[in-house]
Amino acid sequence: MSGKKQSKIQEFEYKAEMKQLLNLIVHSLYTHPEIFLRELISNASDALSKVRFSQLTENSAEDEGEELKITITIDEKEKTFVIEDNGTGMSEEELIANLGTVAKSGTLGFLQAMKEQQSDKEGMDANLIGQFGVGFYSVFMVTDEVTVETRAEGSPGCRWCSTGEGTYTIEKIDREKRGTKIAFTLKEDAAEFAEAFRVENIVRKYSNFVDFPIYLDNKRVNSITALWQQPKNELKEEEVNEFYKFISVDYQDPLDYLHLSLEGVVNFKALLFLPKEAPMDMLYQQGALENHGPQLYVRKVMIQHECKDLLPEYLRFVKGVVETEDLPLNVSREVVQNSPVMAKIRQILTTKIIGWFESLAQDHQEKFRQFYKAFGPVVKIGLNTDFTNREKLIELLRFESTETQEDEYVTLKEYTGKMKEDQKEIYYLSGDNRQQMLSNPNLEYFRKNGIEVLLLTDPVDVFVIPSINEYDKKPLKSIEKADIDFKAEKDAEKDALGKNMIEPVLRIFKETLGDKVEDVVESGRLVNSPVTLVGSKDAVDPQIEKMMRMMKQADVTAKKILEINPSHPVIKNLAGLCVLDQNDPIIKATVNQLYEGALLLEGSLEGKADFVSRMNEIIEAATRQAKA
Ligand code: ADP
Repeated sequence: MSGKKQSKIQEFEYKAEMKQLLNLIVHSLYTHPEIFLRELISNASDALSKVRFSQLTENSAEDEGEELKITITIDEKEKTFVIEDNGTGMSEEELIANLGTVAKSGTLGFLQAMKEQQSDKEGMDANLIGQFGVGFYSVFMVTDEVTVETRAEGSPGCRWCSTGEGTYTIEKIDREKRGTKIAFTLKEDAAEFAEAFRVENIVRKYSNFVDFPIYLDNKRVNSITALWQQPKNELKEEEVNEFYKFISVDYQDPLDYLHLSLEGVVNFKALLFLPKEAPMDMLYQQGALENHGPQLYVRKVMIQHECKDLLPEYLRFVKGVVETEDLPLNVSREVVQNSPVMAKIRQILTTKIIGWFESLAQDHQEKFRQFYKAFGPVVKIGLNTDFTNREKLIELLRFESTETQEDEYVTLKEYTGKMKEDQKEIYYLSGDNRQQMLSNPNLEYFRKNGIEVLLLTDPVDVFVIPSINEYDKKPLKSIEKADIDFKAEKDAEKDALGKNMIEPVLRIFKETLGDKVEDVVESGRLVNSPVTLVGSKDAVDPQIEKMMRMMKQADVTAKKILEINPSHPVIKNLAGLCVLDQNDPIIKATVNQLYEGALLLEGSLEGKADFVSRMNEIIEAATRQAKA
């Protein structure tokens, strides 16, 4: 500082949330102090990107000659750390806005997550910090006091100082250069960050792909940029994996990657990744994919960090970079959105990505399984939104079935390939889990006759599968519907009650259950169970009904049809009792019990207490007889 001017030091107080955040950082985030460096470099890189962008778009005279770079200077003896960039810098107002308040919802989100994890601070990992971008303040993990000197184009220089304890000061300074310099002395227990070897490693680990050179004590330490520009055969797996982690802030390697270099109607290069796992919110939060997408570069400049227009929503979990020469640099979001170039890129990318999935399914089945498990539910959205690729998406579908083991899948093609000659329909059953589905009485006929039934466990399925209607000219049908054509079996018929015996039983059921059911009919599908409930031809899937009930949309339970098994001993006994004494109270109790038992299996029995007390009465009666 020249000292010629009378400089006025102003003191400011942090907002309450800010104090809270700083307090957390200083006292709780001690597990990954090295993160501070990634955050500072990332801020510097952003500031440099802005300069590069305006140089290219505005033809501005902003010292084009000077290399855009980040420099780190450390002193092991003095334990000092300085990081400087010649990016945009900040004016006084920007300093107050950016470093004095919690302006971003991301940071507030971080605070929230921290609060929720209070008891588990160790679990707060580097990944989470990165996602929420605590950013600049993470520096207080390694120092007690920070000085930021900065100057934006057309504004005077400023010095900002803070100990991170409630207040900060700002004073005007003479600063020639545009850009920002952040300086501090390391705390005793953070002295390692003044060691060149350690710092170089951290830069390599987190910031190797930063698009500007990073110098440490005048030596360049980051090496690789723009991997997507390299020819496919020169890509090294390790580098590609590191690049993925860098751009996606994932701690795991990607499941797979795809390199594209297209020339033709549009020209672009892309390096795309499939993560190994889907973030929870992606599957269960509506609109979670709204603002996702790969990074968009135009002529080496990043235009959008998450460009949602590059991919249809159902593919936006794909991460990576797309670079094209065919868009103008100074594009606004609206222009990008509506540009025919963008539409073309999106169309080609979609086709290529689906082709990528197909080749995984073909040649890397294990990878495909993992992919399908993680993102299948998301991809299925495409069936109802992308009619151009619908057929291909249908081929990608996988299902567990009564013929597969748990976690093994069949495709619709495989299913129809195995169908018996006289089977005209593709059968499915939906439910929460495999075990529960396998005990569904509606499966008995199919299992006995070796007819494969698809088991739909993904909650999305019941919305998607019925919309397929038919595959290979064969209709898809829920086995819980009444309109299935069962071929009555000779064996079963032999033991079954004759018509004159079954009629009174059906009547008793109808009288006893009254309005609770739509109808009571003789069943062709039961083998081991006495009764089952099915939906009428036009009923919604029971899984959808259940979901609607959970969402408290009352009154959605459509009446069911109760089917009874004329070969089952209980039904036969009932027929016998009807002949002996129609008014025997055990008949009514049994009918109610059978009905509620079917509800219980379906997961929709409400008054469980009644069910149990009636069961006790029946047991009592049964044991009384045994004694006599
Ligand atoms: P984030 O980087 O996630 O926005 P930070 O707390 O790290 O959050 O930074 C807050 C803001 O301060 C940034 O968005 C940016 O506007 C500004 N800033 C931080 N470091 C720099 C820098 N080196 N150059 C210019 N602006 C910066």
